[in-house]
Amino acid sequence: MRIDLHAHSDVSDGTASPAELVRAAARADLDVLALTDHDTTAGWDEALRAGEEVEIRVVPGIEISTRYDGVGVHLLAYLPDALDPALQAELARIVAGREDRVPGMLARLRDLGIPATAEALAEATGPAVAPGRPHVADLLVRLGVVADRDQAFAEYLAEGGPAFVDRYAADLGAAIALVRAAGGVPVLAHPWGRGSRRVLGRDAIAGLAAGGLAGLEVDHLDHDPEQRRELRGIADDLGMVVTGSSDHHGTGKVGHDLGCETTAPAMWERIQELAGRAPAGPAETPAGEVAR
Ligand code: AMP
Ligand code: ZN
Ligand code: FE
Ligand code: FE
Repeated sequence: MRIDLHAHSDVSDGTASPAELVRAAARADLDVLALTDHDTTAGWDEALRAGEEVEIRVVPGIEISTRYDGVGVHLLAYLPDALDPALQAELARIVAGREDRVPGMLARLRDLGIPATAEALAEATGPAVAPGRPHVADLLVRLGVVADRDQAFAEYLAEGGPAFVDRYAADLGAAIALVRAAGGVPVLAHPWGRGSRRVLGRDAIAGLAAGGLAGLEVDHLDHDPEQRRELRGIADDLGMVVTGSSDHHGTGKVGHDLGCETTAPAMWERIQELAGRAPAGPAETPAGEVAR
């Protein structure tokens, strides 16, 4: 059984529609694919329908933009209730923050002499629910300023870059609690990828696990073998779920082919067991027990 628990469609910054993504997953011989667009559940229905057609299990998920200790951290949420009002309110706030920063980024690019207009960005953003830096990168590619998304990030869009503008992100601990209250299973995405490895040491992860964090995405291309060993050790010590996934973005992210990293069936089983078991409240949920 091949299980990939992290992929993006063009509802966020992937390049295939949710249905196309699911069909591609079937061609890549996957049995289970999680759709985890950034900060939105808008692609779920289309992906779930496509999953029924091509007979693969589509797992509704989200990759939530959060912040921990001042650093951006991505939180994967599996199988939360899509209608949960508190969760949707927080996602709406994050999406609004994505929209609010766009004029600032475009203005910075224009200050650099690049004709970055809102109309041109809208074309690059396409069907996405909200624009992200990858769409601004696509705009720079269309304008012939850079060759690809990677170069756009390296030269303009990475944190601290000349066109970088910060935006709202949820507090990580609060997001974990929100996801659990909505019956979802929170897993840290690429915890030791860019930036976040500075703040997500063993003690921080232990604290987050006590607050309801269920797992770590260990097998991700951002992690080298030594980091994977260490992260797996931390997860084992804390009784956490370990996942592996492609973080596929279609043609938008080189090397992250569907199924290039996968999750063990036993871990996927544990995620399903945890789903829907929202803790009744802090007093009735002894710290540390939630992740076991
Ligand atoms: P945003 O959602 O606007 O904060 O942009 C973050 C997205 O950009 C993530 O999905 C990353 O996959 C992508 N990203 C971040 N840094 C880079 C980079 N250096 N090169 C290419 N893509 C990146
Ligand atoms: Zn992305
Ligand atoms: Fe991410
Ligand atoms: Fe991702």
